[in-house]
Amino acid sequence: MDVILAKRRGEAHDRATLEGFIGGYVRGEVPDYQVAAWLMAVVWRGMTARETADLTEVMADSGERLDLAEFAHPVDKHSTGGVGDKTTLVLAPLLAALGASVAKMSGRGLGHTGGTIDKLEAIPGFRAELDQADFFRQVREVGVAVTGQTKALAPADGLLYALRDATGTVASLPLIASSIMSKKLAGGARTIVLDVKVGHGAFMRTQDEARGLAAAMVAIGAHAGRTVRAVLSNMDEPLGFAVGHALEVREAVATLRGGGPPDLRELVVALATELLEAAGLVTDADEVEVALDDGRALRRFERWVAAQGGDVARIDDLDVAPDTVDWRADASGFLASLDAQRVGAAVGQLGGGRRQKGDALDLGVGAVVRAKVGDPVNAGDALVTLHHRGAAGLDAALSTLEGAAVISDRRERRPLILEVVR
Ligand code: URA
Repeated sequence: MDVILAKRRGEAHDRATLEGFIGGYVRGEVPDYQVAAWLMAVVWRGMTARETADLTEVMADSGERLDLAEFAHPVDKHSTGGVGDKTTLVLAPLLAALGASVAKMSGRGLGHTGGTIDKLEAIPGFRAELDQADFFRQVREVGVAVTGQTKALAPADGLLYALRDATGTVASLPLIASSIMSKKLAGGARTIVLDVKVGHGAFMRTQDEARGLAAAMVAIGAHAGRTVRAVLSNMDEPLGFAVGHALEVREAVATLRGGGPPDLRELVVALATELLEAAGLVTDADEVEVALDDGRALRRFERWVAAQGGDVARIDDLDVAPDTVDWRADASGFLASLDAQRVGAAVGQLGGGRRQKGDALDLGVGAVVRAKVGDPVNAGDALVTLHHRGAAGLDAALSTLEGAAVISDRRERRPLILEVVR
């Protein structure tokens, strides 16, 4: 209780106190209700930068830490969660093609954002759960492996996150920063790029908030001897055109073939350039663009998918729900924003999202955005095409989309990359 009272008074804890409290929680000695009270005190009182870095290390030390020392240039990437965000599918093989080692743990989707692991499972045969021996062997042989988050990594975060989710204590800068960075530190990479999303579809609604979170995570990295850079990217609309697992894989492959949506390509190139520059592997974005255009990244993607059991021959023939319905604009002008959270939620209602952990997904349903922010639209134009299965969830999805588009008489467009925190 002393720990709760100290935080209630606004005092900063030292490392030993955090080790005792969080360690005690993981061992089952400190009960949920006391940790819940402490979390609420942290929400209101905050934490100093040193305290946040100590909390992160304590959480990272609560389980295993991966040792990636045998690999050349181990790098990692994290996104704070976007809609239509298939970036990792393009970025991971691109990084490997340029000499980095990508030993990546990714999440499954919950709520309105999809998870990379679920997207990869839209490729027939793809095995998303690798044991550590296979995971390491694949990084050695192919330079890239992506697997589900193991419970062995930062178990304190798993426990704290579930409690935060149930006690209204998710929205706290030090708690979010330490949660994300504890998993990244335990994951072992030396160089890390963070994609911090800003806007309707994101945790951080304003650029100021996102900058604060980014700076906190970069500082935690520096404290732990890692190089961390954060790219703030705009989420006023879904990334690319496709939302939904199989549709997103298709769009990622188009990007690896040198095409794809301009915004997806721009973000991938920006994230890759930040990481590879920091790792000393490229000097500018041109080298990254060439590896996308000359097929090196695509070939690495194919080797990666095949190594995890995926059927590369089926990559152009994924199971996409064949029935479609258009959701249309009710006014004319320029698209000013398209609420990414609602588009993600609509796809969820068609069967592409989970209400609870462990729910089965329909990987073939989804949405294709027909207009991007700044495009001229006429009343009656299709804005979003929904891919559904025999109308299941369709009415709910269409009513979720109601009001999702803002159409204005002036053409305005925020840049995709808002700033970089180094
Ligand atoms: N993502 C995380 O991993 N943790 C948070 O607290 C928020 C987003």
